[in-house]
Amino acid sequence: MKPIIDLRSDTMTKPSPGMRQAIAEAEVGDDVWGEDPTVNKLEAFAAEMLGKPAAIFVPSGTMANQIAVRSLTNPGDEIIIETGAHIVRYESGAVSALSGIQPCMLSAPRGILTAEQVEAAIRPSDIHNPPTTLICLENTHNRAGGTVYPLGTISQIRDIATSRNVAMHLDGARLFNAVCATGIAPDVYASRFETVSFCLSKGLGAPVGSMVVSSESRIARMRRIRKMYGGGMRQAGILAAAGLYALEHNIARLHEDHANAQLLAQGLAKIPGVAIDEKTVETNIVLFDVGGMTQKPDQLFDRLKDEGVLVSRFTPTTFRAVTHLDVSRQDILDAIDSLKNVLESKSLKR
Ligand SMILES: *Cc1c(COP(=O)(O)O)cnc(C)c1O
Repeated sequence: MKPIIDLRSDTMTKPSPGMRQAIAEAEVGDDVWGEDPTVNKLEAFAAEMLGKPAAIFVPSGTMANQIAVRSLTNPGDEIIIETGAHIVRYESGAVSALSGIQPCMLSAPRGILTAEQVEAAIRPSDIHNPPTTLICLENTHNRAGGTVYPLGTISQIRDIATSRNVAMHLDGARLFNAVCATGIAPDVYASRFETVSFCLSKGLGAPVGSMVVSSESRIARMRRIRKMYGGGMRQAGILAAAGLYALEHNIARLHEDHANAQLLAQGLAKIPGVAIDEKTVETNIVLFDVGGMTQKPDQLFDRLKDEGVLVSRFTPTTFRAVTHLDVSRQDILDAIDSLKNVLESKSLKR
């Protein structure tokens, strides 16, 4: 058996020896009582990094988004969101089930809504209309292939939101990938939003955990909602220690993942029949289409697995490969060889 190169997701990262050391040495207390020093330190550190007064540690990115949406809306409200966004696509219907809101979903090329689109979707105040109270953006946009939201577009949407008295939430699960790709500081992005969530457990390599940053009063509200959702954790400092380690050690290296994604995209582009637009690879996610091959995607997927290259299925013909800190440049070169072996012989249908 060849060694496995796991490109299914950046959630596959495992804690490094240094991170495990930090976990082992963490000081802990009961965080529901506000007494875990390591959680408190992580929350203060995250708030500072994102330029907000307060932060809250939660078990998952889904909970981070859900407590933020709940804190900013009332049942019967409408939120504006892109169709492919994680919040509506991959969170088990939680916004409707837990916040009682209805999503107004807009599709946008590469996941990036325009200010005009958002403005047109805000409901006029009328007894018949659900009040639009929240706009959710996603940066980087996962389903669109790790695309970066241009800061100018975010700012235009912010201006409209402010003038129409609508709040904004950023699903920044991979915000640090956007920071790395653009050089724009995380607090500059965060300044455009009431609430920002981000994941410690993806490319940053922690085993568990996400954060939400916001004002003191909103975070206080979210603490109660987190408890209601079952997310109040006790000696969570052993997890928070991993999160602190991730923020301190694993942000500066994200550019390696982006370079590896570029390398992979270039390799894929050379394989006849693979449809990929290299220009769209902006961060650590590579989407490619195998619909032009003679073999069915199911068979290609299985053969890749036999070769030790794991990717995920995105559409019936699209595969997603995500680079992360447990995948080296050599792994990518090996993965390209395997991809060539599997795909190159399967010439075009035409
Ligand atoms: C992964 C991810 C989340 C959170 O997912 P969890 O599995 O709940 O941690 C949220 N938003 C985006 C864009 C994601 O990619």
